[in-house]
Amino acid sequence: MAFRVGELTVERGEEQRGYLEVGRASTHDVDLPFIVINGSGEGPTLCVTAGVHSIECAPVEAALRLADSVEPGELSGTLVILPLVNTEGFHARTPYHNDLDHLNQNKVFPGDPEASVTKRVAHAVFDGFVSKADYLVDCHSADLGEDVRRAVFIFKTEDEGLRARMMEVASCFNPTLVETAEISGNTGEAVNLYGIPCVMTESGTPYPIREEDVLFHLDGLRNLLRHLGMLEGEASLNNPPLDPKAQRLWTEMGGVWRRGVEAGERVTEGQRLGEVSDLVGETLQEVVAPFDGAVSFLRTHYSVNAGDTLLWVADI
Ligand SMILES: [Zn+2]
Repeated sequence: MAFRVGELTVERGEEQRGYLEVGRASTHDVDLPFIVINGSGEGPTLCVTAGVHSIECAPVEAALRLADSVEPGELSGTLVILPLVNTEGFHARTPYHNDLDHLNQNKVFPGDPEASVTKRVAHAVFDGFVSKADYLVDCHSADLGEDVRRAVFIFKTEDEGLRARMMEVASCFNPTLVETAEISGNTGEAVNLYGIPCVMTESGTPYPIREEDVLFHLDGLRNLLRHLGMLEGEASLNNPPLDPKAQRLWTEMGGVWRRGVEAGERVTEGQRLGEVSDLVGETLQEVVAPFDGAVSFLRTHYSVNAGDTLLWVADI
């Protein structure tokens, strides 16, 4: 079946790359880059998004490499790749929000074509691409001042069959854990709106881009393509723990975060993980591991404010 993007038609056995017009900012156009690889054979449509948070670059690199690694002639079904959803934040190199309207791209799905740019982008992503997909994988890393290694989120749903399919997609990656996330304006809205499995992969830190994080996303996506029968070959399914016990460790007072661990590192109960001190060098808080496990989220910013999460320890 042909795949249509705006006025463009991508026939079976064809690949097209381009930009979908979304809106006009005061000084420039806002466009959504897309790559559609329409396979020669019949099969499902997988949509992959990256750069919903604009400085989460390991997933963007993985998405671009994925596109280069797949030829239409070897593909059954359609691979739709949106390598960079939040282009505004990307060129400005700003975290968290789109500077045009100060909205978080991952809180405004499914978007609105008559609203400000972030919501228009969300609408273009869902209406133009995700609505035509059978599966959605939204690739993230940690944002500015954070680090996360090898996690996958599935979304909360009452539909047990759909939940099982999301777990199956998650198992195509090689995560240390899978967590269930609430659907709240994130790409998980696709689960509610279209009844399709959606997972959010999360590995990496904005700078530097680590090769192993790129490969976590890329290898998982290629494994998923095999699992869905879109590429030849045997998929390997992993068996990651779902919603393991986890504890958030946070600062009681702001100051300097002198961390003693890395994201993903294994820790043992009572191990010193770091300390928070004030700006004249006085220790305010010693942070220790509450149980044996691994650091599933790490704040890497040196400056911390009261209430900030320092890290999460998961029982994995
Ligand atoms: Zn993100």
